Amino acid sequence: MENSDSLILQVAIDTPLRRVFDYLAPKHVAAASTGAAESPRPQPGVRVRVPFGRSTKLGVVVAITDRSVLPRAKLKHVHEIIDREPLFDPVGFELLRWAADYYHHPIGEVFAAALPVALRAGRSAQEHPVVWETTSLGIAETASPSDRRAPQQRALLAHLSVNGPRTTAELAVEFDPAIVRAAVVRGWIRERPATALAAGAPPGIAPVLRSSSIELTDAQRLAVDTIVESGRRFAVHLLHGVTGSGKTEVYLRAIAALIGERGQALVLVPEISLTPQLVERFRDRFDSAPAILHSGLASSERLEAWRRARSGEARIVIGTRSAVFAPLPRLALIVVDEEHDPSYKQHEGFRYSARDLAVVRARRADVGIVLGSATPSLESLENATQGRYCKLTLPERPGVARAARMHLVDLRRHAVDHGFSQPAIAAISTHLAAGAQVIVFQNRRGYAPTVYCAACGWVATCTHCDARLTLHRHPAGLRCHHCGAQRAPASHCEACGRDLHPVGHGTERIEETLARLFPGQAVARLDRDTVATRGAIDALLARVRRGDARILVGTQMLTKGHDFPEIGLVVILDADQGLFATDFRAAERLAQTIIQVAGRAGRGARPGEVLIQTEFPDHPLLRLLIDAGYEAFATQALAERREARWPPYARLALLRADAKDPARLDAFLHAAARLGQPAAGGAGGVNLLGPANALIARRADRHRAHLLIEAENRSTLQRFLGEWLPRVENLPAPHGLRWSLDVDPLEVD
Ligand code: ADP
Ligand code: ZN
Repeated sequence: MENSDSLILQVAIDTPLRRVFDYLAPKHVAAASTGAAESPRPQPGVRVRVPFGRSTKLGVVVAITDRSVLPRAKLKHVHEIIDREPLFDPVGFELLRWAADYYHHPIGEVFAAALPVALRAGRSAQEHPVVWETTSLGIAETASPSDRRAPQQRALLAHLSVNGPRTTAELAVEFDPAIVRAAVVRGWIRERPATALAAGAPPGIAPVLRSSSIELTDAQRLAVDTIVESGRRFAVHLLHGVTGSGKTEVYLRAIAALIGERGQALVLVPEISLTPQLVERFRDRFDSAPAILHSGLASSERLEAWRRARSGEARIVIGTRSAVFAPLPRLALIVVDEEHDPSYKQHEGFRYSARDLAVVRARRADVGIVLGSATPSLESLENATQGRYCKLTLPERPGVARAARMHLVDLRRHAVDHGFSQPAIAAISTHLAAGAQVIVFQNRRGYAPTVYCAACGWVATCTHCDARLTLHRHPAGLRCHHCGAQRAPASHCEACGRDLHPVGHGTERIEETLARLFPGQAVARLDRDTVATRGAIDALLARVRRGDARILVGTQMLTKGHDFPEIGLVVILDADQGLFATDFRAAERLAQTIIQVAGRAGRGARPGEVLIQTEFPDHPLLRLLIDAGYEAFATQALAERREARWPPYARLALLRADAKDPARLDAFLHAAARLGQPAAGGAGGVNLLGPANALIARRADRHRAHLLIEAENRSTLQRFLGEWLPRVENLPAPHGLRWSLDVDPLEVD
């Protein structure tokens, strides 16, 4: 090994700066006197504790070199190397570096996003059992205390130096866990494996997929065979299976066949709390428990799942977005369920697409990936057309279940009672009488989206945002859905003093109307106000599954893969919100929502029916979707995208900025636009559009605007951003202005 004094460690630190920080390897402390094990070796992928400004921070070593732009004398030493082994498998590690480049995001924040909180706080990445030992920092502190504070932590240090490494249980006899944690945060003590065994010799046993009574349909069989035959080589399979067609069964069998005795599978899902069924099915069917990774877990549970993934012990890892970064040393297959779902895109901070990164990871690991959906994204469909993805289709529901029939109800031709047309009311009655359950979809929570004075036209608006206030009944108040501001509900117009009227229908009001129209029928409501907690979601979904609730009213949350066999009817109260929206993805989202909500009906033996209320029954895209199906809709929508040069026929990035002072915001974005003009202006295949105001031009007292960068392809966009962004970063940032870049934005807003 070379003399580690000459090494320079490039460290990713969780700061908003787009750079790495150079450090020297740690100074060696005489280990003999203390009984501490030999220090870990510096290598890419290990965490280090470093001096940073006046504080100490944790970072990840991203590279080791022998030169720095800074003179050696200016470089500081790393306090401590935390890990003996890199935290990531090589492909996972490269994926993070690649993602930082591609999304032009500060690499420290990228690594932070990939690590469980417990690891960011310095906990050991090793699997238990572990022992606690003194770090070199702790040893130095014992030898020459820097001050007299934290007497209990010092007592802990003394205890460890007298007795040598101790297990958590042994420490717990004398020390509170909070003291142990505090000493970890200071960098005085750390965990290490109790035995000398390296982490992760996974058992060489193939997890068994328990047999079930399910016999695959021909289409399922073909899909499984195709995925399995392409084996552990890179291939993207776009599994387009109508709702209820048995995609999960395809995932289960393909995984069982491909992971064999040592491999691992990664299954990404949009939201675990809303779809506990998928996880249950994996638990039921495999004799090896999957590791579950999502943000709702307690930090120690998440760490444990992460460790099991890293050691290879977890053969199947199921997780949401950030699980795409899980360490998977023996990856054999990736599945992305509901690949069209917008929640795969992180919408703040490090704005990555987990679906897109999953494809990149599969390519780099040279393994197969299955993108499953009943409503594939237009991007994925185009990739299939171009031959980059291999398309597999499940056109029907297995067994007796049949696709629900869809009808449009022309709202202009029927009397409407609080949002319900006569045909909708009649259909609900019929289905309830036949013993079926009914779903009513309205993508608006609260009681009424607008409160308005009929006499003078005054509307209740938020004082902090350019937006209307939503009336809520339980608890009562006027709430802004954009900034969270609350006010007591007003009964009189602030302008003229006359009575105010709630206009429009949120889910609360729909629930009230249903109770009046169908007395005696239990109604359940699923929206963010009723299911704020995980427990509440589980309880509500269980109530529906047991049949205790006869009518289920809800928002977008209803679109997520629920499998309730007794739903006979789905009513979509208002299809029109998405028809004329300005965003280029609005039509795609609307179509996906309609098909996904409709897919909750007719999943059992009961035939399903779907009523879609609209004032525009002749809208061409809506007609195409209802009459010819999602695929026909997608073909037409893609033609329109091509015409308008929107993705996937162009590549976008959005520079968003906000500030309290609109003049500063405007000046900044204009300056940024000017910096891009020589390269852009259509010449190099790049157009810079804007600045333009965001749809909600003021939110929480901050003005919001953006610049849109449109490029003819990915490499053009990347080249442009690589040159332009450093110049934007060097612009004198006006006081209080924030900006961020979104590569491949889902919404141009
Ligand atoms: P999707 O994920 O495509 O919406 P699911 O995987 O949830 O569909 O399957 C819907 C239902 O059909 C489930 O209850 C599942 O157990 C059942 N199923 C799947 N494949 C078959 C099959 N080949 N024969 C009978 N039932 C099946
Ligand atoms: Zn507001």
